[in-house]
Amino acid sequence: MKALVLEDINRLKIKEIPVPQVNEDQVLLKVFTCSLCRTDAKMYQQGQRDLVLPRVLGHEICGRIDGDKFIVWPGNSCKNCEMCQTGQENLCDEMQVLGFHCDGGLAEYVCVSKECLFPVPESLPENIACMAELLACGINALEMANVFKGQSVLIYGGGAAGLLMALAALSRDAKPYILEINPDKLKKSKAFRRETGIEDVSNDMQFDVAINAASSIETLTDGISRVKKGGTFCIYSGFTGDSSVSSKLLNEIHYRQLTLIGAYGCKSNQMKEALDILDKYQSQVRLLIEEIINLEQVPEALERVLSGHVFKYVVEFNK
Ligand SMILES: [Zn+2]
Ligand SMILES: [Zn+2]
Repeated sequence: MKALVLEDINRLKIKEIPVPQVNEDQVLLKVFTCSLCRTDAKMYQQGQRDLVLPRVLGHEICGRIDGDKFIVWPGNSCKNCEMCQTGQENLCDEMQVLGFHCDGGLAEYVCVSKECLFPVPESLPENIACMAELLACGINALEMANVFKGQSVLIYGGGAAGLLMALAALSRDAKPYILEINPDKLKKSKAFRRETGIEDVSNDMQFDVAINAASSIETLTDGISRVKKGGTFCIYSGFTGDSSVSSKLLNEIHYRQLTLIGAYGCKSNQMKEALDILDKYQSQVRLLIEEIINLEQVPEALERVLSGHVFKYVVEFNK
């Protein structure tokens, strides 16, 4: 089969490799679409904590088995540890992730654990369904921040991750606001924001919850100042660079009784909720597709993903 293999940092090759062999817990999924994530681009250029080389990348996968359409929760946890037993399998130390520890979806076929498959409604096209994983990560952030009906949620970053998170907030009847400092990116999301009714942020607004879908440390300092007393800031995106946090900022958390919480990845049950949201907002989510590409175009697309100015590249295998 044809696969895109990351042989080493900065060395990505289209190769002919054997179709993978499944074990008794797995099934072979024929990949139809796999969308590219910023993490794929980072792995390509600088590696990643959980990356084991050589590797077929790709963890935002939609495919078919015997004609039925599925998306994939890319994790595979041990099911026995304290984290797994308490419904926090995304924190399992033994976690094996498709496209990180084992081969992912940028290939014609991928081996998937049966329990990681979620059926996709026939009405939902593969090139939208593959975004379920990214959306599920946004749902996880909203759950960690305990966002409920009627709350205002400030989301830093108007890329696909932030905009999908905003959709998830809308679907739980919260009020999302997007803060994007790059005017080009803001312009790019204009149609999406208009069609979904996501409002702009005015300077003096205060929010129940703030979440960063952007990696600058300023999102934290600014976000802490913009949440109401008793509010929550959720760290969804890891921070880049080496910055220290001032005690003045920490005292803000103390005096105003704020909650600071982290969110990383997603849990399998959040994939199902993500599918329902994608199905409901199909026409809007379509606006987040930068381009539908083939496997050969991936290395070039990953370069552009790193620029941070593009929406989702979706690799289609019959293209
Ligand atoms: Zn990802
Ligand atoms: Zn575990």
